[in-house]
Amino acid sequence: MSLSPERLDRFARHIVLPEVGGAGQVALAGKHLVLVGLGGIGSPALQYLAAAGIGKLTLVDDDKVDASNLQRQTLYNERDIGHGKAISAKRWVKLFDPELDVEISDRRIDIERAATLVEGADLVLDGTDNFATRLAVSDACVKAGVPLLSAAVGRFQGQVGAFAGHLPEEACYRCFVGDAFDAEDCDTCAEDGMLGAMAGWVGSFAALHAVRVLLDGVSAYGDAQWSRVNLLDGIKPGMRQFTIAKDPACKGCGGDVG
Ligand SMILES: [Zn+2]
Repeated sequence: MSLSPERLDRFARHIVLPEVGGAGQVALAGKHLVLVGLGGIGSPALQYLAAAGIGKLTLVDDDKVDASNLQRQTLYNERDIGHGKAISAKRWVKLFDPELDVEISDRRIDIERAATLVEGADLVLDGTDNFATRLAVSDACVKAGVPLLSAAVGRFQGQVGAFAGHLPEEACYRCFVGDAFDAEDCDTCAEDGMLGAMAGWVGSFAALHAVRVLLDGVSAYGDAQWSRVNLLDGIKPGMRQFTIAKDPACKGCGGDVG
């Protein structure tokens, strides 16, 4: 696979980076990323991932655009209000770069649908706001052997973690949060509030890390950093990173997984 002169020009600022290079850009063009959640995290993440030339994108969200989303969900404008987020996001990508292959799913994720959606992907990025979906996506990723980048944000705190629970030594997202949140009882930004740019920081950091994962083994920037979670603090501001241990008794990736 090689890039056309138009694509070489479009991605010139990537290609000139020794850490990415032509090999990295060609690799990105051949990758399939599934983005679950097209809200405050998914919006800026998708903008940077589409801009990075990731060849195939599957966009997943069952929600519709609401006026109160525009404070942080940068993909959308007033014309999109009342329309589905998935179809609106696809429209954005097609205007931005018609060469990218985009599929959408606008139905609510359950365990079965999660398995279908993640099958064959190179990476899943989850930026949804409820634990039931996050855990269903995580379990599906472990079963399918697909890496997961999990990103969350609330108020002024964000977290982005890279998980490869299908590997014998690496934790999954369920090892990190446990089973307590299987029910949809968590706080959401509807109750908590959130500074819009905080979602932007977490979403763009998730896109940065997605590129890092997708370039693992391809070029120098590639370094998946599995089982590590980055905490982003918008008050201080600052970042720190910690490592999650694999839980041998984990329902998602422990020994008794079929
Ligand atoms: Zn696990």
